[in-house]
Order: sequence, then structure tokens, then C-alpha cells
Amino acid sequence: MTNFSDLLLDVARVRKDFPILEREVHGKPLVYFDNAATCQTPQSVIDAFDHYYRRMNANIHRGLHSLADEATAAFENARETVRAFINAAESREVIFTRGTTEALNLVAQSWGRANLGAGDEVLVSQMEHHSNIVPWQLLAQERGFTIKVIPVDERGVLDLHAYHDLLNERTRLVAVNHVSNALGTINPVKEMTATAHEHGALVLIDGAQAAPHIAIDVQGIGADFYALSAHKVYGPTGAGALYGRAELLEAMPPWQGGGEMIATVSFDVPTTFADIPHKFEAGTPAIAEVVAFGRAIEWVNSIGLEHIAAWENRLLKHASEAVSGIDGLRIIGTAPEKAAVLSFVVDGAHSQDIGLLIDQFGVAIRTGHHCAQPLLSRLGVDATCRASFAAYNTPEEVDVFVDGLQHVINMLR
Ligand code: PMP
Repeated sequence: MTNFSDLLLDVARVRKDFPILEREVHGKPLVYFDNAATCQTPQSVIDAFDHYYRRMNANIHRGLHSLADEATAAFENARETVRAFINAAESREVIFTRGTTEALNLVAQSWGRANLGAGDEVLVSQMEHHSNIVPWQLLAQERGFTIKVIPVDERGVLDLHAYHDLLNERTRLVAVNHVSNALGTINPVKEMTATAHEHGALVLIDGAQAAPHIAIDVQGIGADFYALSAHKVYGPTGAGALYGRAELLEAMPPWQGGGEMIATVSFDVPTTFADIPHKFEAGTPAIAEVVAFGRAIEWVNSIGLEHIAAWENRLLKHASEAVSGIDGLRIIGTAPEKAAVLSFVVDGAHSQDIGLLIDQFGVAIRTGHHCAQPLLSRLGVDATCRASFAAYNTPEEVDVFVDGLQHVINMLR
């Protein structure tokens, strides 16, 4: 039995912050292991919505009245909270988006459309989420650049020798995830960024799965762009952020036009644009969601990301050891550096059936291709079961999951 007593996370206290954990599913206590898809929100984040709509709802930035002022301050405070969370140098380097997907599309449509053309190469890894593949494919069709793929070995680790060989003077961008959502592999983004920079390429990091588990330091990494989603960090859906180095963002054209992003609009002389970050925030943003995003980060900070990470690593170790006793179960993704994700397949039991049946035990896991079809196909599977952990999960829940899994497998064989 794995020991958890040395860890500085009071899981009982943490759980009290999450009202949803009180509910039952099929008459059983909810065991929520689908955190990599979206994680649950603490009461303080739910309260942020309530407070916002009861006390300060107003459109931001243009109003002169008190509510507009307060809502603007709350929104801009959230920007500062995100800045500090990722250690950006300035808050104007943080652009609010609907999430990671929109952040990655912003880079493709603004920087990519302006800078990529025939003869250029973009490197993406074989373990990318579709949201860091398809925007590049869509743009490549239009702009005629080439997409090259950094391969992954059978453990789910990026082949860094191949990466070095792929980099050349035509490489303009390396687009890579920090942590794989399908396998949990942690990629050496700092080293990869340094090498890309030696070749004059920029680096875009998809941090959707890193943000809840790893202290992000965009300056330490040297990242040019970094994307994250609020709902993976105990926040709401509908909000996320793109970090971009100020000088890059300043040189990039807008990607969506509308209110908020302009300086002056005219039919007679060219329309001029607002300074960053507003140039990239056309229209009314998801104000309450962004404010709640800030509150979610405050919640993470109150627990301590390092304590959360240590707790989840121990859960991962416990779960990996426990499932390894199950006959015919194979863990997919055995990288030495992993975060909070246990992906597996079982001989004679289809992943979808396992996911459906284990729900009867109150256990929520995700099954399928996890929006990473090229990765799964490289690893010779078309679907896996994925259990992913958060700060509120317990070793007892892991035991319920492993028992349920064994029952389900027995039923299916
Ligand atoms: N990248 C990774 C690694 C992800 O895990 C996800 C979400 N599954 C995304 C990008 C997309 O994030 P969102 O759906 O929040 O835009």
C-alpha cells in the first residue's frame, strides 16, 4: 500500500471545497477520474459567478459608471493573476481566449498567416492534441508550408534525436505540448525551446495539461507562445489564455475584428488597432468566466501547486501499481516523467465497454482516442481507457476504481 502520510495536502479539506463530490452516480459515491477532460470547480469559483452577476455585471473597458469600473477591475485583476501564475513579464502579454483551442488558432491565424509560406516548415509532435495539429493543417493548405512531425517512441516519449535532425533553417515554428493529455508524458519544453531558438524557430507550447500539475514559468522556459484553459485548472469552461512575448504580439496583425480591439475606425483612412492585449480581444469577452478563472488560480495557489503535484504523483504511482496486477492490462504511456494520467488497454475488453460499465460503479473515466489519433495510431491502439487525477482524488477512490475495473473486465471476458 502506497504511503501518503508524508504529503502536505489535506485531501479531506480539499474535498470540502468541491460540492459536486457530494453527489452520487448510480447510487454510488462519485469517483471523478476524468480530470484531464475537465476538472471540477471549488465553491470559491462558483461563488465568483454568483458575486459577479449579483453585484457587478457590466460590459468592461468602455463604461464610465461604477459597475463597468468594478467589472473591468475584476477582469484585469484576473489578467494579473494569470500573469503571475505563468510568470509572464507583463500582464499585457496575457490574452484572454475561450480556451487552449482558441489560443492555438489565434497563433495560427495571426502569426502563422502573416509569417508562413511555401518553403517554410512547422514542426509538431506526434503526441499533439488535435487542436495543435488541425489549425496548422488548415493554414498549410492555404499558405503552402510543410508540417513535419517529431516522432514518439513506444513508451510515449518524444524522440529528441529526431527532433534535432528535423530542425533546420526552414523551421519557423515548433508547436509542442508540455504534457500529453492522452499519456501524461511531460515533455522537456525548456530544452526543446533552447534548441529551436538556436535554429531561429519560435516555440508555441500547448500547456492545457501542464497548468494543473506543473509550475509554469514562461520566461524560464523561454516560450514564445504558451496556451492554457481555465477548465483544466479548477476554473470554468469558456475561458483560457494565450501568453505571447510582447514584441511578437505587437508585430502580429489582429485575427478577429470588432469592438474593443480598435483605436480608430474610419471609411476614409485606415482603421487603427488597440495596443496589446486588447488588439486580440475583439468583442465582449466571457467576463464572469475570466474573473472565475482568476479565482480558480487563487484556489490552486492557496493549496500550493507543488503539494497538488506531489499528491497526484503518489496517486498515479498507487494506481499504476494496483492496475498492474490485473491480468491482460497494459499501460499505454510509460514515460519516466509523467503527470496524473493513467492510460491503459485490456486484452479481451473493449475500452468503450469498460468506460460505460465502470460508470455503474460511480467511476468516471474517459475512453476513446482523446483527440490524439496520430499518437494512438503510433502506439498501435485506436482507443484507451484514461483515468486522470486531481487534487481532490484519494487513494481510496483509486481502490474503488481498481475493484470496479476488475469486476467489469470479468463481466466482459
Ligand atoms: N491541448 C491539450 C493537451 C488538451 O488536453 C486539450 C483539452 N482536452 C486541449 C488542447 C484543448 O483545450 P480546450 O478544449 O480547453 O480548448
